[in-house]
Amino acid sequence: MVNKTEWLCIDCGRVLGNVLGGELKPAVPPEQIITRGPNLVITCPECGFVKSWYTSDPIVKAVYQLVDAMSYAHAKRVLHLVSEGSLPKSQKN
Ligand SMILES: [Zn+2]
Repeated sequence: MVNKTEWLCIDCGRVLGNVLGGELKPAVPPEQIITRGPNLVITCPECGFVKSWYTSDPIVKAVYQLVDAMSYAHAKRVLHLVSEGSLPKSQKN
């Protein structure tokens, strides 16, 4: 038995594709699909929401997740520094 999962648009719920054995079979016109490295970037034909499909290749996936995590951590640190510098001091003399 093949486990099939629908891959839905987060915004409007349209079926963008079907996931079969960890691979995505897109259900949108080809012009809605672009590639970004090994990943697929699909634009919802209904609402224009852009969703990324990360390849099931475990090594590529791990690298992308690491990059995501790193940029998230970096962004968080920058935000923290900015908020520390710009927030008015609550303690008054
Ligand atoms: Zn949509």
